Amino acid sequence: MKENGLYLGIDYGGNSVKAGLFDSIGIMQGKTSWPTVDLSSPDECQRFAEGVAEFVRSLDLHVSDVLGVGLAMPGMIAKDSYFCPNVSVNVEVLAEYLSKSFSSTPVSIINDANAAAFGEMWKGAGSVAKTALLATLGSGLGSGIIIDGNVVTGAHGAAGELGHVTVEPGGRLCTCGRKGCAERYASARGLVQTFTEATNDDGLDSSLFSEFEPTSATDALPVFKAYEVGDPRAARAIEVMVDKLAFALAQVACIVDPEVIILGGGVSGGSPYFIEDLRSAFSTYCLPACSSTEIRVAVLGNDAGMYGAARYAMNSAKKEC
Ligand SMILES: [Zn+2]
Repeated sequence: MKENGLYLGIDYGGNSVKAGLFDSIGIMQGKTSWPTVDLSSPDECQRFAEGVAEFVRSLDLHVSDVLGVGLAMPGMIAKDSYFCPNVSVNVEVLAEYLSKSFSSTPVSIINDANAAAFGEMWKGAGSVAKTALLATLGSGLGSGIIIDGNVVTGAHGAAGELGHVTVEPGGRLCTCGRKGCAERYASARGLVQTFTEATNDDGLDSSLFSEFEPTSATDALPVFKAYEVGDPRAARAIEVMVDKLAFALAQVACIVDPEVIILGGGVSGGSPYFIEDLRSAFSTYCLPACSSTEIRVAVLGNDAGMYGAARYAMNSAKKEC
């Protein structure tokens, strides 16, 4: 048995489910992943939980050494209520089977963006900070807020919804039913939309810039490639994303005043093209007291969620002691 115990972090994502096993100082003992599957029925949940336990045994470790299991899910996670409309998972039943597979170990459930923030705070770009905001620039815009080492979930599981801060009243229609939310501009989808619309809005002849074109509504990489070769549509798309993101971050900073803002998600891979402009725009929009807030890029990549889920499980287990 490991002296300091082990904590398991599971990150249920749209394409894959990742699991990582960590000791209490955050050293990874092993990790694995599976393609995402529906976990709606008790049978599916049981099979999955047994698969996770098998992964732990494959590392020559005992399931009884696992003192806590953290499960990161996309959706609104409040105390004892889970709303995950984009995935087919029975969260309560899955948690039950996971607990059974690990000697009745408690299972702690956390929103995936909050888990990523926790992960970066534990072992990534925010590891010396106590208060941080992680903005995840993926197909949408998620965020996690950590204050004094604790994740902020809110009364309805809706805290840290940076993507739905209004940055353009009456602007683009959002999936939340409102208009002008930050993620309609500052995300892969927003970037591609501005890129596509720039041709019409700015009267540009797109045939002059046909070398790089997005292949889908969330295919942001060609926008950065187009920027490299001087495509003005790409410059416009990045300019709009930076402006709206900086504005949203500055509003949140008025409330949270984080020590550090961390940028994660696939679009953050293009940060060399925009991070300096983002820092500059943020300092223009924020309160003078917050102008020195550091803006950094995440370092754990796709592993951040499972690091954070494990850390959340550890914190929860310690609170119960
Ligand atoms: Zn919205």
